[in-house]
Amino acid sequence: MIPYARQNITNSDIEAVVKVLRSDFLTQGPAVPTFEKAISDYCKVNYCVAVSSATSALHVACLALGLKSGDWLWTSPNTFVASANCGLYCGANIDFVDINPDTYNLCVEALEKKLIKADAEGKLPKIVIPVHFAGRPCDMKKIYALSQRYGFRIIEDASHAIGADLPSSKIGACEYSDITVFSFHPVKIITTGEGGAATTNDAVLAERLSLFRSHGVTRNRSLMDQEGLPDWYYQQIDLGYNYRLTDIQAALGVSQIKTLDDNINQRTQLAYRYDELLSDLNVKPPSLDFNGRSALHLYVIQLNSSTDRKNVFDYLRRKGIAVNVHYIPVHYQPFYQSLGFKVGDFPNAEAYYENAISLPMYPILTTKQQDEVISNLRKILHFSK
Ligand SMILES: *Cc1c(COP(=O)(O)O)cnc(C)c1O
Repeated sequence: MIPYARQNITNSDIEAVVKVLRSDFLTQGPAVPTFEKAISDYCKVNYCVAVSSATSALHVACLALGLKSGDWLWTSPNTFVASANCGLYCGANIDFVDINPDTYNLCVEALEKKLIKADAEGKLPKIVIPVHFAGRPCDMKKIYALSQRYGFRIIEDASHAIGADLPSSKIGACEYSDITVFSFHPVKIITTGEGGAATTNDAVLAERLSLFRSHGVTRNRSLMDQEGLPDWYYQQIDLGYNYRLTDIQAALGVSQIKTLDDNINQRTQLAYRYDELLSDLNVKPPSLDFNGRSALHLYVIQLNSSTDRKNVFDYLRRKGIAVNVHYIPVHYQPFYQSLGFKVGDFPNAEAYYENAISLPMYPILTTKQQDEVISNLRKILHFSK
């Protein structure tokens, strides 16, 4: 079977993990700060806090920014549910901003319109979470300009986008955001099994991210409510969680990040090859022509609206090609419908979803496998005309 995404684990990755297993620390040892430094060096950002998943990174990011009951958090409907759930964990209200039909990212013009309306109603968001869908960066400069005007904070959901570039910085550098979040699930760009991280340039936010990662407990004397406490002393100064990454996972991450640029170059070559192979088919490839670099987590094509997507999907699955669909709009989920969202609320995300199919995309996909994907797609598109 050819999956839509998969990890690439090398012998050096395996050796790195085994080394930790033979060492003194399986968790809370030296591998976690080493991984954090590798990420902050790569992204050119001041601080990195590694956590157990991108979902927990989003949660601690919202907590660090003080999101609470009565606040609003806005994100894109074209994302995994975790980008919105993190707001609900904090008791906040969720809303979505429709996508741009060309980039499939949150639409900046729609965001501005919605902000003007929310301003008039006194319901401005505290946090906006742009999602770099498929690894393609959002227009962060414009979103940042709006945040300055309307006073909201920004968390970039870069679960798809470690290694991607804005025109002037790496994703994760937080040039135009408060915090950036990564996922290291095996289908994503690099993996630690489960795992995530949050980056920031703000020392206070970094301190709060690590506080919420570990029960709200601190050993930092300057944060305690008394001076001269004994050396064994720690204090719980807020309500946090156990969202720690293990050293076993972190060691895998340190090894994986070494190949990150090769990984993205391989994805880019495969994407250009897909573009060529698809050029005579009635499908719309993702646009790679913009200022910056996509991490190419996904390669999503749009079928023609007269093509029966289910038929194409089922056929490819039967042929052992595990295509997928990213994403069912979050507001379609029964849980979000129970909060009052309806089909029709975000028409661009809905129209995009109707015709989307993610073709296999990962560094160790061979050109032979890629040819197999395309020849099967070609067959079924011919038959489902
Ligand atoms: C995968 C993903 C997440 C959640 O990542 P985990 O590490 O599995 O918690 C969040 N947002 C987006 C956009 C994702 O693709």
